[in-house]
Amino acid sequence: MTGQVNPQRITEKLLATHGHVVGIEISSSGLRQSVALANLDGEILLRVSRPLEVVPDSTTVLQQIDAMIAEVTSPERLVDGRILRVGVAVGGLVDASQGLVRTLYHAQGWDNYPLQDYFTERLDAPCIIDNNANAAALAEYHRGSGVRERVVLYVGLGRGIGGGMVINGKVYHGVTSVAGEIGHILVKEGGPRCSCGGYGHLEAIASARAITGAMIEHSAEDAQARSIMERMTDGHIERLTPAQVFHLAAEGNQVARHIVNDVHTYLGIALANIVHVINPSMIILGGSVAQAGDLLVQPLEQQIQKLCLPEARRELRVVQGSLGVDANLMGAVTLALQDL
Ligand SMILES: [Zn+2]
Repeated sequence: MTGQVNPQRITEKLLATHGHVVGIEISSSGLRQSVALANLDGEILLRVSRPLEVVPDSTTVLQQIDAMIAEVTSPERLVDGRILRVGVAVGGLVDASQGLVRTLYHAQGWDNYPLQDYFTERLDAPCIIDNNANAAALAEYHRGSGVRERVVLYVGLGRGIGGGMVINGKVYHGVTSVAGEIGHILVKEGGPRCSCGGYGHLEAIASARAITGAMIEHSAEDAQARSIMERMTDGHIERLTPAQVFHLAAEGNQVARHIVNDVHTYLGIALANIVHVINPSMIILGGSVAQAGDLLVQPLEQQIQKLCLPEARRELRVVQGSLGVDANLMGAVTLALQDL
């Protein structure tokens, strides 16, 4: 019938083409500051990343994020619609229900910062903030390795270590939004000093910084190992990656083998303990350490299987996240899309 249209179809068309979301990633180290413009299918149309060399204060970070937002949301990019939602993945303690950053370790000016209100005002669109591991967990659940898994534990093995749990499609936050903060679990009494000041925490053994830091420190006297590392990093040994340490271990370097063994042992203990609490169907490993792939995943899975009751591990799979190091930014986009 001429002149009549199906209102439902118009709505779908409008949703598909006339709107965008913005995803923002903020890390406490300054290394990962990114802004992405995505469509409503979650495809990233444009992204800008600008790492900071020094650990910054909130004003410096937000000025820089504002400049990146201006770049990705310029009027010519938004001819097709407006910004409908903003999602922010923050590498610190976040109270998602209140929209507050509780703290960003080692960075100034973030305590109880009302970040949700800040971006809501800036972009004139509702904003959702969460911890970066929670956001990454949600992204892996919706568009990565954990699609339709009932209970997912995501472990972000980056500069620090974070965890996120997605249970029946929802992030589990706990009472004060601290659920999943697994980096500071004690795994080795009297172990190395942690970034929080404690000793023997998981983060002090299995984070990217712990792995590469230990490799560089413990091979200071080993001329052969140092020359191999310099060759791997084009002379910039400070850029050594955790994956390179795993490869050195696989090639038989003794220092690297010791470090990698500790990662498998103590990360395995932490994850096996968590398995007995939340009984997940999948553990997804993300962050730069997970870029070691099977060199990390296979021995770790064996260690977890060894330490768990048969019933606790019956349906458990341990996998590398398919979103790689983009999981946090994809997580920010997913937070925004989830709220539409
Ligand atoms: Zn700690």
